[in-house]
Amino acid sequence: MARDAVILLSGGLDSVVLAYDLVRQGRQVRAVHFNIDREAEDYEFNAAKNTALTLDFPFEAVDLCGMKQMMLGFMDVDGWRGEADIVCPDVSAVPSLVAMGMYYAQLAGIGELYLATIREQTAGRPSLPQFFDALSDTSRLFDPKYTEVRICNPYLTKSKAEVIELGQRLGVPFERTWSCHFALAAHCGKCPGCQARTQGFTSARVADPTRYLA
Ligand SMILES: [Zn+2]
Repeated sequence: MARDAVILLSGGLDSVVLAYDLVRQGRQVRAVHFNIDREAEDYEFNAAKNTALTLDFPFEAVDLCGMKQMMLGFMDVDGWRGEADIVCPDVSAVPSLVAMGMYYAQLAGIGELYLATIREQTAGRPSLPQFFDALSDTSRLFDPKYTEVRICNPYLTKSKAEVIELGQRLGVPFERTWSCHFALAAHCGKCPGCQARTQGFTSARVADPTRYLA
């Protein structure tokens, strides 16, 4: 019988490749998407939702917009425009979002939570694998009657280019994923999200189907 898996599906390229990867492995996938009121939320949501519809698995979108209000007094507002990595909510909110994902997995009675963390995201954070292991361990400490949830990061040693190569083999429609930090008619091509995307396609020697602003 196929094992169930919960995936945190942002709608970015890496998490969409992971969704295709798990489905191709025969896993019964459930996805959860967190809305933390980022500027490109509508685009990311659409990418995530389209992936769930295409691959035909359950999809839950959770409104966590209140996190932004909580953080605004402590952070440079420009951080919400994705212009400074140091205050980018993608990074600082990770422990909270992973914990929420674990709670969703517990509710669903599923023992594995998949994240599409890639090698570049571990730069400067050598203890990240230990963090995920330690967080996994907490799931059985609170109360043994709840489902123990392991956090799985199968791409932790893969580069963006390697994820793109895998996605190409899996037939991922890259043009339906969103990496830009802005909500524009097309990817801006300049923000950190776009730069990582273009460099990934170039390094992977895969044709980039993304539409960029001229
Ligand atoms: Zn961009």
